[in-house]
Amino acid sequence: MANFFNDNEDLRFHFDRAIDWATLAQATERGARAPDGPSDLAEAVASYRDVAALMGTLAAEEIAPRAGRIDREPVRLENGQVVPGAAFQEVFDQIRRLELHRLPLPRELGGMNAPVLLWFLGCELMARADVSVMTHFSLHGGIAMALLYYSLAEGSTRLDGAGGRIAGTRFAKEIEEIASGAAWGSMDITEPDAGSDMAALRTVATEAPDGSWTVTGQKIFITSGHGKYHVVVARTGPAPGLDGLSMFLVPADDRRRVSVERVEDKLGHHGSVTAAVCFDRAPAQLLGKRGDGFRQMLLLMNNARLAVSFEALGLCEAAHRLARGHAALRHTMGRPIARHEMIADYLDEMATDIQGLRALAIHAALHEELGAKLTFVGAAAAAEHRARARRATPLLKYLAAEKAVEMARRCIQIHGGIAYTKELGAEKLLRDAIVLPIYEGTSQIQALMATKDVLGGIVKRPHELLARLAQARWRSLSAKDELERRAARIQLASLGAQQHLATRTAASKLRTHEWRRGLHFRWDPRRDFALALLHAERLTRLLADEQIVEILLAQARRFPERRELLGRYLDRAEPRCRALGDEIATTGSRILDGLSTDLAKKSA
Ligand SMILES: Cc1cc2nc3c(=O)[nH]c(=O)nc-3n(C[C@H](O)[C@H](O)[C@H](O)COP(=O)(O)OP(=O)(O)OC[C@H]3O[C@@H](n4cnc5c(N)ncnc54)[C@H](O)[C@@H]3O)c2cc1C
Repeated sequence: MANFFNDNEDLRFHFDRAIDWATLAQATERGARAPDGPSDLAEAVASYRDVAALMGTLAAEEIAPRAGRIDREPVRLENGQVVPGAAFQEVFDQIRRLELHRLPLPRELGGMNAPVLLWFLGCELMARADVSVMTHFSLHGGIAMALLYYSLAEGSTRLDGAGGRIAGTRFAKEIEEIASGAAWGSMDITEPDAGSDMAALRTVATEAPDGSWTVTGQKIFITSGHGKYHVVVARTGPAPGLDGLSMFLVPADDRRRVSVERVEDKLGHHGSVTAAVCFDRAPAQLLGKRGDGFRQMLLLMNNARLAVSFEALGLCEAAHRLARGHAALRHTMGRPIARHEMIADYLDEMATDIQGLRALAIHAALHEELGAKLTFVGAAAAAEHRARARRATPLLKYLAAEKAVEMARRCIQIHGGIAYTKELGAEKLLRDAIVLPIYEGTSQIQALMATKDVLGGIVKRPHELLARLAQARWRSLSAKDELERRAARIQLASLGAQQHLATRTAASKLRTHEWRRGLHFRWDPRRDFALALLHAERLTRLLADEQIVEILLAQARRFPERRELLGRYLDRAEPRCRALGDEIATTGSRILDGLSTDLAKKSA
């Protein structure tokens, strides 16, 4: 029987050897052994393995064979009701029978209490079969978990003293409905005039004298927007920009108040519903504090970005395997095309990138989950996990999404003309991939986030950059292990680029300020960071390589069999990082001069 978990050696390496299940299971079981929980770590991990294998079979045997039908059977809007395609519905009937929507939810709320990381691995397996199934699946668990986190953060979930088991929560009914598969949710942020720019959101929430709320406005491009539970960001006060935003749960109980106006006719993701949703004085419940909407959205977004990254990884895996299979069978000029030099190089690069991405994805998801779970029990280690997740997540979302498009395109190229027809599903992969760098924060927005974080850190603690540079330089020359020296050279390229951008940024300020005042006061991100913003995508690629190499090096130290992968990754990353560093150091001024001339003309 085909199984997307069992047939994936790299995924099984992570599962069986690299993932720290002990720490994760302890945080998930919240320290104390529940009467209905696993008796020890071995039993917990065995049950996680069973779930992974089950999802591997589901993806390979049930979802993948229906992917073509899911792509061809359109979602319809009939009398205000959304009707999914038959194959899509068959898959979700199965998922419901298997009770997989319960996977990451706590046992006390009817869930299976599995680590969220296991759920993400399942997302990769599903996405390898069909991304629109994975997308809808992730909005079941994702919204239920978000409601629980919001409620924990605002204090409306009660934990009992011993072991922190959940004694009661504000959203027990909603979570059970989602867990059973009877309802699902959506994340309603985007509006016609506000996508990347959340400060431009216009949907309003109004509070009545009795303290109840209603929401009015239009949201567009809402994945699974025909769901019952809408998590909506709306404006609650006169404060402009991000400060005036709050977050609400808006149940679609009354379709006159919450209606689906339109279902988008898209390039790909045909099984998934992407809807324009209209709220007309819809009864709403405030989540958390008024004015905290942007901060709360980031929490939801963190997990959503991880989910999209695992989705992209699944698609990369599908593209690589399809291409590899074809290249092995198809002969030209007396050889399988896999044995022609250029194609062999493509396939090797795809395989290497997938392994690097998976290591990064698992690292980011593990730290995000530990950060969140340990925060709620007040553990000191939480902050370090959150910091690691914060560093890795934008790099991962950026790279995974971009690589999915690149690999889908390569898969087509390796097939030649046959892939331009609909016969093999290669063109579906490309159509499905193209949205990945757009939703859950575009690639450019991820790059801006990563760059601002890194440069913000340098501005606050410039001595740290210098110390890290000195250490990396020393290791690049004197480390005993050649792989360690090569890894240090990647870090040097990244730190060198950061230093260049920071120095150029500071230099432009120092022209107008005494240096100490200049460095510490009156930063205007738009003006002062212009060069860094221009190079944000290049810097993000460098940072991603630096982070992947760091993770693979740590793996290679623990597991010597991973040295071969690290060497392979470094072969490609070293020249790439040198080139990126060179581009950052030598280009950009012409564009910036042009932009400031335009600005000067406008204000004259
Ligand atoms: C299939 C699909 C499903 C979606 N699902 C959801 C959902 O469930 N919920 C939801 O709320 N939204 C959803 N979206 C919307 C999606 O999140 C937005 O499309 C995305 O945030 C980009 O916004 P935009 O389309 O308005 O593009 P814009 O914000 O107009 O951006 C256009 C381009 O300009 C770039 N850009 C913008 N600002 C900057 C800057 N400062 N510097 C550099 N470049 C910049 C962007 O990166 C992009 O390349 C979905 C979209 C699609 C296509």
